[in-house]
Amino acid sequence: MSWLPPDDDLDDGFEDFDESSIRTRPNPKANRPRTKRRPAHDDAEIGRVLGVDRGRYSVMVDEDTPDERVITTTRARELRRSPIVTGDQARVVGDMSGTTGTLARIVGIVDRSSLLRRSADDTDQVERVIVANADQMLIVVAAADPEPRPRLVDRYLVAALDAGIRPLLVVTKTDLADPTQFLTHFAGLDLRVFTSAQDTMPIDEIGASLISHSTVFVGHSGVGKSTLVNALVPTAGRATGHVNQVTGRGRHTSSSTVSLRYESEAGTGWVIDTPGVRSFGLGHVDTSNILASFTELAAIAQRCPRGCTHLADAPDCALIEAAENGELNPAELSRLDSLQRLLQTFADKHEGRDAK
Ligand code: GDP
Ligand code: ZN
Repeated sequence: MSWLPPDDDLDDGFEDFDESSIRTRPNPKANRPRTKRRPAHDDAEIGRVLGVDRGRYSVMVDEDTPDERVITTTRARELRRSPIVTGDQARVVGDMSGTTGTLARIVGIVDRSSLLRRSADDTDQVERVIVANADQMLIVVAAADPEPRPRLVDRYLVAALDAGIRPLLVVTKTDLADPTQFLTHFAGLDLRVFTSAQDTMPIDEIGASLISHSTVFVGHSGVGKSTLVNALVPTAGRATGHVNQVTGRGRHTSSSTVSLRYESEAGTGWVIDTPGVRSFGLGHVDTSNILASFTELAAIAQRCPRGCTHLADAPDCALIEAAENGELNPAELSRLDSLQRLLQTFADKHEGRDAK
């Protein structure tokens, strides 16, 4: 797996994950032997990477103490191109005062408990990291405007479950449409679902689920994710309304991923808000993890022949037999359809590659 610099035609706001601060330059010292051993940085402090902006990482140190502060850092050269993303626990040295104009250095990244990734599309093996160390993903989808797409939610679910992250679902704009039909698609899943309308947002309920967690918010542009984030974190100031007044283009202005602290009397948690994702490629996902993320179907598929593709034409597939014998309820049938579509996407991808 390789890490790529951004491609600028991906208009999804993810360009802030790039490594643009480290363009390769001719290095006259490159061939000189190293005379000194690299410092061990035993004195490094560990801080939380809150966000990334043009090669500068804002890092919170002394979190939850009276000395808590956010400092600006840059990556140490020795880190080379390894990615540093929002949510990372960074080892930091240098000027840690946080005084304006100071710059500390990130010299290492603590092993991650999870890493949420995406690729530009399903045929793209190059992955981009979105967030480190999240343990929940809040998927935001609108009941209408824009129309909810079960397939997109399935993709988020696969990405979350592949990364070992617990998914949660919020359906917004239920004042505009009844989400019942849409939600039948997920009935068979172990998935907490919240519904939210213009004047009745379940802020306390959603908030309670955020306490003591690090929750990455994902959703297509325009679904009301920023509205929700602002209601949960009143200081967030995320831009809402997805038409940019200056350019007139339908692209919202919150273009980088940020960490925000949810605070309530009951406790605190981290909200990690990502820019609207136009595509959520799963090229990096191991296909066996896709089935595993459809938990109720995976149990049935244990009866499949070895190496079963579970595609619509798979011989003796236990899933297809269960469907034909009427053993699957409507939600499970819908999920099977979704699973087969995702698996078909991967089958096509591999055929394409073999043909080359
Ligand atoms: P984002 O692109 O997902 O961050 O979406 P925004 O939060 O910017 O919301 C997009 C538009 O939907 C804004 O005009 C919001 O006022 C509107 N909106 C958000 N939530 C609701 C809701 O529950 N009901 C209705 N009718 N509109 C909403
Ligand atoms: Zn099968």
